[in-house]
Amino acid sequence: MYQLIIVGGGPAGQTAGIFAQRYGINFLIIGQITGGTTNEAHLVENYPGFKSITGPKLAQEFQNHLNEEIKQEQVAKITKQEKGFKVFTNKAEYETQAIILGMGMKIRKLNFKNEQEFLNKGISYSTSNNINQFKNKTLAVIGGGDSALTNGLKLSSQAKKVYIILRRDEFRGSPALVKKAKKQENIDIVYKAQIAEARGKDKLEKIILNTGQGLEIDQLFIDIGGVPNIHLCGEIGIEMENNFVKTDKHQNTNIPGVFAAGDITNNPLKLIVTAAAEGAIAVTSAFKYIKSINS
Ligand code: NDP
Repeated sequence: MYQLIIVGGGPAGQTAGIFAQRYGINFLIIGQITGGTTNEAHLVENYPGFKSITGPKLAQEFQNHLNEEIKQEQVAKITKQEKGFKVFTNKAEYETQAIILGMGMKIRKLNFKNEQEFLNKGISYSTSNNINQFKNKTLAVIGGGDSALTNGLKLSSQAKKVYIILRRDEFRGSPALVKKAKKQENIDIVYKAQIAEARGKDKLEKIILNTGQGLEIDQLFIDIGGVPNIHLCGEIGIEMENNFVKTDKHQNTNIPGVFAAGDITNNPLKLIVTAAAEGAIAVTSAFKYIKSINS
C-alpha cells in the first residue's frame, strides 16, 4: 500500500511530488499528460524565476525537478476502503492511505473555423502578462465572465481598442467589472455574438461573427473558462462548490485523507503559480495526516 497517491501530472501534482520526495513519503503519481495544461500555455510570464518561458518548457522544468516517473494511466475510479482508498486505473489497482486530487481543468475551446490554424498566431486561450506588446493594437476577448472582463480591462490600458464579445445580452461576471468595462472608452462591447470564422494570411487578421459583422484585429483571446475534471469525486463523496472541489486553506477536502490542489479547487485564481503552491500545501497536510494515522 502506498502512503500517498497524487492524481494529476500538472503543476499541482508535480509540485506535490517534489515535496513528497522531500518528506520521504512512499508515493505514486498518476497523470495522463506530464505538465497538464501548462503545455497549452504559449508563453508564461508570471511564474517567478522565469521571465518568459513557453508552457511546454516550464512543464519540462518541473518534471526535471521532480525526477520521478509519472505513471501514464487513466484513473477510472477511486473508492474508500476500510483503511484508506483504492485507485482503479485503465491498467491496474492501487491502494493508498491518502490522496491528492490534482486533475485540473480542461480549457474550453470554441471550435470555429480556423481556430486551431491560428493558435499562437494571433489566437490564444490565455492573456500574456506582458501587455506592453499590445500597445496600440486592436484586440478582441471572447467571454462574459470575470476572466474576460479582467483581461479586457487589463489589455485596454495598452491597446488602441478592445472588443469584448459575449454570446448573451448580459455578462456573467461581477457587476463592478461590467461597470468598469462599460465606462472604458476604448472597450467596445459586442453582445449576442459568436465567432464564425477567423481569417488571415500567415496570422490572424480578421474575425467574422455569426451576425455577419467582420472585425479587423491583431489578437484574439478566448476567455470562456474551463471545465474542472471532477468525474472521480462523486464516488468518494467529495463536497463541491460551483463544480469545483471545496477545500480549506490547508487543501483539506471534506473527506479525511483526501486533499486537492490546483485548478480543480474552488480557489478563483487559476494560475500555474497558485497550482504549485496548493500542491505544496496539500502534500504538507497529507504528510501530517499520514504521520497521524501511522503513529
Ligand atoms: P465563467 O465560467 O465565469 O464564465 C465563462 C464565460 O464564457 C461566460 O460568459 C460564458 O457565457 C462564456 N462562454 C462559455 N462557453 C462559451 C461558448 N461556447 N461560446 C461563447 N461564450 C461562452 O469563467 P471565468 O473564467 O470567467 O471565471 C471562472 C471563475 O473564476 C469564476 O468564479 C470567476 O468569478 C473567477 N474569476 C475571478 C476573477 C476576479 O475575482 N478578479 C478573475 C477571473 C476569474 P454564458 O454566461 O452565456 O454562459
